[in-house]
Amino acid sequence: MEYVVVGASAAGINALKTLAKLAPNDNLTLISKDEAIHSRCILHHYLEGSRDVSQLNFTDANFIEKNNIRWLKGVSLTAIDTSTQVLTLSDGKKVVYDKVLLATGASTFFPPVKNIKDAANVIGLRNLDDAIFIKEKLPQVENIVVMGVGLVGIDAVEGLLHYGKDLTLVEFGDRLLPIQLDHKASQRYQDAFAAYGVKQRYNTAVQEVLMDETGKVKELALSDGATIPCDLLIVATGVRSNVQFLEGTPVETDRFGMLFNPLGETNVANVYGAGDVSGKNPIWPAAVKEGIIAASNMVGQKRVLTDFFASKSTMTFLKIQTMSLGSPIPADDTYQVEIRESPGQYKKIIHKDGIITGAVIQGDLSYSGILTQLVKEQIRIDKLKKCVFDINYSDFFNMTENFEFGFCTD
Ligand SMILES: Cc1cc2nc3c(=O)[nH]c(=O)nc-3n(C[C@H](O)[C@H](O)[C@H](O)COP(=O)(O)OP(=O)(O)OC[C@H]3O[C@@H](n4cnc5c(N)ncnc54)[C@H](O)[C@@H]3O)c2cc1C
Repeated sequence: MEYVVVGASAAGINALKTLAKLAPNDNLTLISKDEAIHSRCILHHYLEGSRDVSQLNFTDANFIEKNNIRWLKGVSLTAIDTSTQVLTLSDGKKVVYDKVLLATGASTFFPPVKNIKDAANVIGLRNLDDAIFIKEKLPQVENIVVMGVGLVGIDAVEGLLHYGKDLTLVEFGDRLLPIQLDHKASQRYQDAFAAYGVKQRYNTAVQEVLMDETGKVKELALSDGATIPCDLLIVATGVRSNVQFLEGTPVETDRFGMLFNPLGETNVANVYGAGDVSGKNPIWPAAVKEGIIAASNMVGQKRVLTDFFASKSTMTFLKIQTMSLGSPIPADDTYQVEIRESPGQYKKIIHKDGIITGAVIQGDLSYSGILTQLVKEQIRIDKLKKCVFDINYSDFFNMTENFEFGFCTD
């Protein structure tokens, strides 16, 4: 059997690990644009200089060799013929598959801003190549602007904090991490970055990239009328899934990315998907899980994805830890909000009809395990006999005789 995995990141590598375990006598091929296996989540460590390229690798030593994986690296999948089961690569090579996993993830999206695609020294932060580019440019630049203050933008800023550069964040939303955090939790990070001298401009969009005579970015024109100096622009306003090679194929996509079911199957036989290529749940642990599940189903061992919460992020910036679940702000006044605060600690739970729809925990995250369990088990918090913030793990052992989950509502 010829198993082919396209993509050497969270989904693809974990799929290969699973295939190597479950199908040790079959042929495994990995195809990737990436020439080095690396975790995108720690690219900022490379930026700040605390890890080199080899320390970004998240596999065991000699993972590829030990598992007899044929790795075609530095090449892209450009086309897939699902009727003959042949892949075409950017170097013209053809690769035949019996089953293929498409785990091609996503790429930086450059929003439609004048000159953003033409100006030099404008880059995203998605791949190791981007981080290498940024680091190489550092000796030549003074004013660095990060456009978009989501998780990737903040990673970029944190990685660059200690170089003595002039750093500015420009964010369209009214606060840092507007998707994950409410105003209170954002403010703590904003203050912490301000203490490092990072300038922050919220409710502001970049409208035009102004270039010098050599074509390099020199200034940015902003929606508030200001023009700010910039000789390196890092674009972190979002991503688009890598599905270009599906054009003209019967494999279904939607506006986010490739479609696959909870088994990792697409609508076409022998074509599987996992990870950010779906554009749905773009976090590392989800991609890992989906890669493992798709690989299991490729070898005929049925596994189904049963995830319980669409968006969960855990982050540590400037040593401040936060966990965010779902939406951090109630959609309307039919939602109720519980808050508990103490110095350095902030807990907020949003619920409707007793079911948790969002939460932010900042400071000590020890409560997040309990919270995750409450969400996973869909516990009605309006029926709890204790305050939701006072629950501990022992409360979870209050099960009924037939092992139904009783909890402390009974
Ligand atoms: C800077 C940064 C920080 C992040 N921090 C966190 C974090 O703290 N926590 C968290 O949960 N998530 C984080 N994420 C998100 C996380 O990295 C992604 O969810 C995860 O990498 C998705 O894995 P994936 O395997 O689906 O795809 P990707 O990681 O996008 O990898 C795609 C792979 O496919 C290859 N590829 C793409 N197109 C082709 C093609 N046409 N042909 C061949 N190969 C191709 C690429 O080379 C790559 O190997 C971060 C992301 C970034 C960029």
